[in-house]
Amino acid sequence: MITVNKISVKSLISKSKLPSVDFAINPYVGCPHKCLYCYAEFMKKFTNHKEKWGDFLDVKMCCEKINIEKFKDCDIFLSSVTDAYNPFEKKYGVTKQILEQFTQSNARISILTKSNLVLRDIEIFKKIPNISVGFSINTVNDDIRKQIEPYASSIEKRIEALKILHSESIDTWIFVSPMFPKITDFRKIIDTCKYFSNSFGFENLNLKNRYHERVLNYIREYHKDLLSLYQEIYMYGNGDYWHKEAQEIHSHCQKNKINYSIHFH
Ligand code: SF4
Repeated sequence: MITVNKISVKSLISKSKLPSVDFAINPYVGCPHKCLYCYAEFMKKFTNHKEKWGDFLDVKMCCEKINIEKFKDCDIFLSSVTDAYNPFEKKYGVTKQILEQFTQSNARISILTKSNLVLRDIEIFKKIPNISVGFSINTVNDDIRKQIEPYASSIEKRIEALKILHSESIDTWIFVSPMFPKITDFRKIIDTCKYFSNSFGFENLNLKNRYHERVLNYIREYHKDLLSLYQEIYMYGNGDYWHKEAQEIHSHCQKNKINYSIHFH
C-alpha cells in the first residue's frame, strides 16, 4: 500500500553533483519500485514521512513554466533519486508534462528507467533533438530481478522497450547497475542487448549505505554459496574482485567493439 500525496514545488529542476550531469529532474519524491539496494533511500530524511521508503510517493506539482533557454547545452538527467516512469506516472504524467516543455530545446536529456512505461512518450522523444533513453539491467534472469527489483518492469519488458526505442531511432543505452558480484553476468547482458543499445555503462554494487545489511541478508538467504565472497568484499574491503571484473569488462568490450564506460566506486 503506497501513500500518494501531491506537493507544490517552486522548481522541478535542481543542480546535480553527478559526473557529466548539470541538472537533475526528479518528478517524484519516493519510488515505488522498492529495489532491494535502493541508493536513493537517504532522501527520506528530507521528508516528513513516517512510512518506509518505497511506501510513499510525493507527486511534484509546479505551476511555473520551465525557462528552456536557461538549460541550453546543459546535460539534464531523469532521474537521480526516483524513477521518472514509475507506475504512478501513468496517472499523474508529471514526467510527460516536463518533457513536453523540452521539445525543440538544445538541452541534452538523458533518461534512465526500469520501466517500459517510457514507451508512452516516444512521440515526445522524437521532438527532442538530444535525448537518450537508458534501461538499468543488472541481470537477464527475471527470477533474480523479482527478488531485487520486485515492482519494476520485467527484464523481458525492458528489453522489448529497448528494441522499440532503438527501432524508432532513439539513442538507447544500458546501465548495468548495480553489478552484484557473481550474480550479474555482464557478458550475457551485452549479448542480449548489443544490437539495440548504442552504449553500455557499468557500475558496481556499493554497500556503504543503510541497505548493506538488507543485501547481505538477501545473499545469506538466496545465494549462500556467495556469502563469504560478499563478506570479503563488503566487510573486509577486499578490492580484488572488482579490479579483476573491471579488467574483464575492458577486455570483453574492446574485443567485441562495444562502446562502454566503467563507473566503479
Ligand atoms: S528504481 Fe532507483 S530510485 Fe527507484 S527504488 Fe529502484 S533504485 Fe531506488
